[in-house]
Amino acid sequence: MDISCPMCGEDEDLVGTRNADVIELACEACGHAWPRDLSARCAECGGDDIQTVPLAIVEKSRGTQLSIVGTRPVDLCSVCDAEKLLRFHANRPNPLMPDELPTGSRLDQE
Ligand SMILES: [Zn+2]
Ligand SMILES: [Zn+2]
Repeated sequence: MDISCPMCGEDEDLVGTRNADVIELACEACGHAWPRDLSARCAECGGDDIQTVPLAIVEKSRGTQLSIVGTRPVDLCSVCDAEKLLRFHANRPNPLMPDELPTGSRLDQE
């Protein structure tokens, strides 16, 4: 596999544990651990320049207010999802906001 540790670049001392649709990868060189989605190849263009970014999990709290209750990792293609990646990097360290928010809601942010 053409995977290397995002922390130290190690590409041999990696241990993968399959867990449903995700492989939990751990680097034995530096101890970093991260999940890798098995579908980490773009379904649109077949490219493998995929970045995993945190996507906000948004829920209605009260009335029309939304709050971010957590994040989940999503894989974005550097070609097809270039816009989202730009948006994400512009707003770091905030998570990427979902494209579709529950209708009639506004985000209680900023
Ligand atoms: Zn490492
Ligand atoms: Zn793509």
